[in-house]
Order: sequence, then C-alpha cells, then structure tokens
Amino acid sequence: ESCAEVAATATTLPHVSPLLRVVGADTTVPLVDGTQRVYANLDYAASAPALEAVAARVTEVLPLYASVHRGAGYLSQVSTALYESARQTIARFVDARPDDVAIITRNTTDSLNLLAGVVPAGGRVLVLDVEHHANLLPWVHSGGRHGNTTTILPIEKTVAATLDSLRDELARLPYALVTVTGASNVTGESLPLDEVVAIAHAAGARVAVDGAQLVPHRGFSLTATDADYVAFSGHKTYAPFGAGALVGRRDWLDTGTPYLAGGGAVRDVRSDRTIWQPAPARHEAGSPNVLGAIALAEACDQLGALPAGALAAHEEALRGRLVDGLSAIDGVEVARIWPDSADPVGVLTFTVPGHDSGLVAAYLAAEHGIGVRDGRFCAHPLLAHLGASGGAIRASVGVGTTSEAVDRLVVALRTYLADGP
Ligand code: PLP
Repeated sequence: ESCAEVAATATTLPHVSPLLRVVGADTTVPLVDGTQRVYANLDYAASAPALEAVAARVTEVLPLYASVHRGAGYLSQVSTALYESARQTIARFVDARPDDVAIITRNTTDSLNLLAGVVPAGGRVLVLDVEHHANLLPWVHSGGRHGNTTTILPIEKTVAATLDSLRDELARLPYALVTVTGASNVTGESLPLDEVVAIAHAAGARVAVDGAQLVPHRGFSLTATDADYVAFSGHKTYAPFGAGALVGRRDWLDTGTPYLAGGGAVRDVRSDRTIWQPAPARHEAGSPNVLGAIALAEACDQLGALPAGALAAHEEALRGRLVDGLSAIDGVEVARIWPDSADPVGVLTFTVPGHDSGLVAAYLAAEHGIGVRDGRFCAHPLLAHLGASGGAIRASVGVGTTSEAVDRLVVALRTYLADGP
C-alpha cells in the first residue's frame, strides 16, 4: 500500500478538527531520502502542540505583561487581573468546588511534589505501581522528607482484583491519601475513578488524581468524581511549557509548609520568624509564570467549549483505528494492563518483539516522518509489569491528529517488518 493510497482512504474525523486547530499542523520534516514530508505527530502524550487560539492569546497579552501582585502601575494591575482570572478559568475547567484552591505550578511533577509536602506529617500515602514516576517519586522522596510514609501497592491482573487489593490495604492500615493516575501515560488505561474515590473515602483517605493525561484527553470534574486533588500540565493541554496546576482541598494547602520559600508567599518576615500566606500565594513564591497561566487558561476555555464528548469521540475513533491496524500486523504486540479496563484515552504502547524499540522509532522518524516515543516512558515499574523493561514504542493522539497519521504508522510498520529498516 503506497502512502498516496493511504491518504486517499483516510477518513475525516468530524468531532474536533473543524472546531479546534493546533499550530504547526503542516510542519514538514526531512526524510533520509532527501524529501520532505508533513510531520505525523503521534507524541501528544509527551507534549501537545499549542492551539491556534492559545498562540493568538499569547501574542495578544505579550505587550501587556508586567509583575503581578506587586506593582502599582496600570500594566501590573492588568497583569494581576489576567493572572487571577486565569486561575479561576483553570479551576472552572476541572469543575472545582467553591472551597477548592487552584495553585499555578510548573507542571504535574511540580504539583505532585508540592502536594507531597503538605500531607500532614506522619500520614501514609498509597500509590499503585502503574504510575508515571511523577506520581511515584514525590511521595517516596518529598513526602519522606516531611515524615510521611508511602506504600507502593502492586497492581493485580484485573481492574476488579486491583480494586479489591486497594480496599484490603486501606482496611489494613489508616491512609491519609491515595494517589492515582487518571489515565496511564503508557496505555491510556485507568481504574474507574469514582470507585477508587468511593473506596478511599470509605476508609477515610483522600484521593489525588494525576491528571497529566486524563485532563487534556477527556477533561475532568473534581465535583463529579469527588476526588480531592487534581494535578495537570499546560504543555500536554495544548498550551506551551512552563505552567501547570494543582487544584483541590484548601486545608492542607493553607497550612502545609511551602516547599518553595520566597517573596510573595509570606505575610510578614522578621529575622526570627516567617508568617506564610494562605494558599494559593503560599505555594507561589517568586515571580509567577503569568503568560504560561494565561495560555493554559485559554487552552482550558477552548477545550471546555467543545461539545460534550467530542474530544473523546475523536480520540476513540483514532485510537480504535490504530489498535485495529496494529493488531492486524503479525509481529506487533499492543500492550494492555488490564483486560477489563474501560475507555482508554488516546495513548497506546506496542512492542515489535525481536526488534529494538529505539531503532524502530528512529526508522519511523527517518523514513516516514512519524514522531512516536520509545523507551520506558518514566514508568519503569509498569514497563517491567508489562514485560517490556527493554523498552517499547508509544503512539498518542489528540486534537490535531489525522487518520492519515495513524494509517501512516500502520503502513510504516508493515513495511518495516516486510523489508527491514
Ligand atoms: N503523569 C503522567 C501520567 C504523565 O504522562 C506525565 C508526563 O509525561 C507526568 C505525570 C509528568 O508531567 P510533567 O512532565 O508535565 O510534569
């Protein structure tokens, strides 16, 4: 099958493409044969391209920005208003409760490290071994420094058995917090969040959701799920790098010691004592990323304005097409954590047994202009569980992904296996 034939058979995805556009969708990249090809970006799970509306908003506010919360001048006041309104938009996007607080952070990693530092001292934290390192290491290291202990619970073979194991562990010991991924960055799968929340709350534990993948792919509601915290990243949510958020219950955030000390986070300082501000200022020491927050808020507004279910339908169509295409190839194995998990987001991982994942990924880039990710995806325990400690290949889709890009990957892998690199 030639590339031209693939392009001709590609279907139009009606759900999102007419409504939202990403910048750089027509970027061409050099191939080894000296030609150029439109880049097939199948790496949205790492960082998604910015929306055109986000780029326009950044250009619009760039001439206006000035120091926030500090300056008396007009532009400082405008910037402060824009920054605080971005905070509200971000909180609204994840359907925060009226008492919740939204802290602008650098990214999900930053958000979870921050949260790990405010879990009341002596608290126990429970985390499953499917997590991205960003939702594993902060609890062990940052939490450990604050006198908390972390249990890493191995997942079971099914969702049902994993939930049972979670229930048993929470009955065995009192936990302050269960922290769980909203969607795996490796396979797109997740545990049913409402069940996790119900189990944890029944045992008196709070729930934090690592929303790095879930939020951009599906949106999220703190109110509907009753989860206590959610963390996510701007650069995976169609805004540029550098801003993320932690949104959730105010009490721990109002009282916990900030892990970043400095100006803006304090109410009064003497040489012998410091009085901290309540959240969010308490956790936003230093000059904040005003433009990043405004860009993220614009992305939230754009995604939030999509018709309900449109993004999920778009991704399901693409992911389904990819799973069908890859599963039909002898020599390609699509990874799955649990046979009974439901509704994975637009992320999937596969291996080509007998072939080095780094070499396959390099072939896809050099010969076909396809961008995937290879390696262990900052989730070493999960890759070991999947029997892929040697590495795997991840393809992930989003707003700007076309069915042509998905088909190109399938054809490229068939060609690779037929002809060799
Ligand atoms: N959690 C998950 C599920 C992720 O996919 C990622 C990034 O890949 C992170 C956390 C960390 O996000 P960031 O690098 O933006 O802090």
